[in-house]
Order: sequence, then structure tokens, then C-alpha cells
Amino acid sequence: MKNCPNCKAEMEDNFDVCWQCNFSISENKVIEFEETTVSAKKINCLRCDVQMMLSGNYKFHEGTKFGIFGNLLEAFVNRESFDLYVCPKCGKVEFFSPQV
Ligand SMILES: [Zn+2]
Ligand SMILES: [Zn+2]
Repeated sequence: MKNCPNCKAEMEDNFDVCWQCNFSISENKVIEFEETTVSAKKINCLRCDVQMMLSGNYKFHEGTKFGIFGNLLEAFVNRESFDLYVCPKCGKVEFFSPQV
């Protein structure tokens, strides 16, 4: 375990982004999870069959290392932003590229 330099929360060693304050260790700053007014899609969690919540629109910063997300984001490397959905029941996170 290590501690977030920003808020002192405990973090897993292999995590790059703080779960509490979104501080990125590789970027040495808090990354933005912007609130968005984009209408949420109705997406049900495949496991729980409950509707997933739109957690916000995440914007890439050039040079960001997504150690926490790993291969999950490879499909999104050419996108500037994507919508983040979270299952309120099991905590599963899914990413969708915003629809224009
Ligand atoms: Zn933190
Ligand atoms: Zn779920």
C-alpha cells in the first residue's frame, strides 16, 4: 500500500489514480472528472441487471498514463473524452465514447 500525496488516502501500489481525489501520481496533479449535463444512456449492468449511473465525462490529458485502467482504455486512445458509467450494485465501471 502507498498513500496518496494529495489527500493521504491509502492506495493500492499498482494504482496510479487516487480513488478518493483523482490525483494522478504520474501526472502529479488531480485529473478532471467533469460533471456533465449529457443525458445518460440507459445501460444495465450485465451482472446485476440494474441501471448503471453516469459518473461523468472523463477527458484525456496528453501523456496521461492509465495504469489503473490498463488495457481497458486501449480502444479509446484516439478519443478525447469518454463517458464513465458505474454500476451502483457491484461497482463495475464501463466506458463509452460520447455520441456526437
Ligand atoms: Zn487522493
Ligand atoms: Zn453490477
